Amino acid sequence: MSDQITGGCLCGKIRYSVNQPLQSIIACHCINCQRSSGSGAMHNAVAPTSAVTITAGQLKVFADTAASGNTLNRYFCGDCGSPIYSQRATMPEVMVIKVGTLDDSNAMKLVMNIWTKSARPWMYIDPASACYPENRPPKT
Ligand SMILES: [Zn+2]
Ligand SMILES: [Zn+2]
Repeated sequence: MSDQITGGCLCGKIRYSVNQPLQSIIACHCINCQRSSGSGAMHNAVAPTSAVTITAGQLKVFADTAASGNTLNRYFCGDCGSPIYSQRATMPEVMVIKVGTLDDSNAMKLVMNIWTKSARPWMYIDPASACYPENRPPKT
């Protein structure tokens, strides 16, 4: 099980595992992610919901309204407040994992920045990464 990825919240009540590699980090600089993360951006990794298992604890959910008007469910630990993952109401097959909750994300790479039009001037954005002023364009 050495390729099992694990993570959890600050207080330790929420634990989860991912049974496939996570490599790419997408930083979202939208205002809602700034508020939710308490930081300049939320750092996300996309995984199929089928690959993720919540192994301990019960998540709370906040139904956020994204800039697109779509509902984005933000799941977090109700005890310590750590954001764990988010999920579009229309895309339950995909989970957007908050990379800071992984036990070990050292091998991952930040490859994309989205919603850079609301990025704060003090946030460093790697010019070699893919940058989009709003959402990433849909895959073709
Ligand atoms: Zn917690
Ligand atoms: Zn965002």
